[in-house]
Amino acid sequence: MTTILLATQNAKKGRELAELARGRFRVQTLADVGLANLAIVENGATFAENARIKARAVKAALAPAVVRDITWVLADDSGLVVDALDGKPGVRSARFAADHGTGAGDEANNDLLLLLLAPVPDERRSARFACAVCAVAVDSDAMHEAFGTVEGHVARARVGSGGFGYDPLFIPVAHAPLRMAELTSEQKHAISHRGVAMRAALATLGGQARPSAFARARVPRA
Ligand code: IMP
Repeated sequence: MTTILLATQNAKKGRELAELARGRFRVQTLADVGLANLAIVENGATFAENARIKARAVKAALAPAVVRDITWVLADDSGLVVDALDGKPGVRSARFAADHGTGAGDEANNDLLLLLLAPVPDERRSARFACAVCAVAVDSDAMHEAFGTVEGHVARARVGSGGFGYDPLFIPVAHAPLRMAELTSEQKHAISHRGVAMRAALATLGGQARPSAFARARVPRA
């Protein structure tokens, strides 16, 4: 079975990625290859750039002893794009509140989002989660990319305890008025930005789509 190393340090996101890949691939995490504390500077201007930076950094850090066991290093970068905030928090989603000096972590990020959107009327609270996935081959220069989004709106109060990040505030169009945090993990995977991007990437890595056609069709705008 093809082995994919998931290059994420976010445990909850790693779990979602692993659930999406399980069954068809052997999945390893950074902890499995002794890289749980690898420091990666995510300074790309786009989700796609950051996914590439993470995948390449992990590939470069792999010890020779584990290289032969792994076929692909797969990284993702994701976040929330809010129209009324000109696309923010975007690639800074994880560090939104920290960047503004109002705290750190999911709770502080959600508080800041609510504060900034307080004056914005309901019909202008449109947003989407976006996810870029990049897979680099361990033994060659091959690389595949995929992109996914899920459309929705930012609510005025948190509801639900599932998922992570901005899920308690995000109302996906497909399940309105439920928040993403109220969906089962199966419901979330079926519509989510990460689900869309991962399914496309895994179909290619599993040989179910022609890589050249996939690469042309899926490379996101940088
Ligand atoms: P990354 O780890 O740099 O990709 O940052 C991702 C950040 O975007 C997370 O910390 C969350 O704040 C947000 N995010 C990404 N995907 C989701 C999701 O599925 N639900 C809620 N928040 C998300």
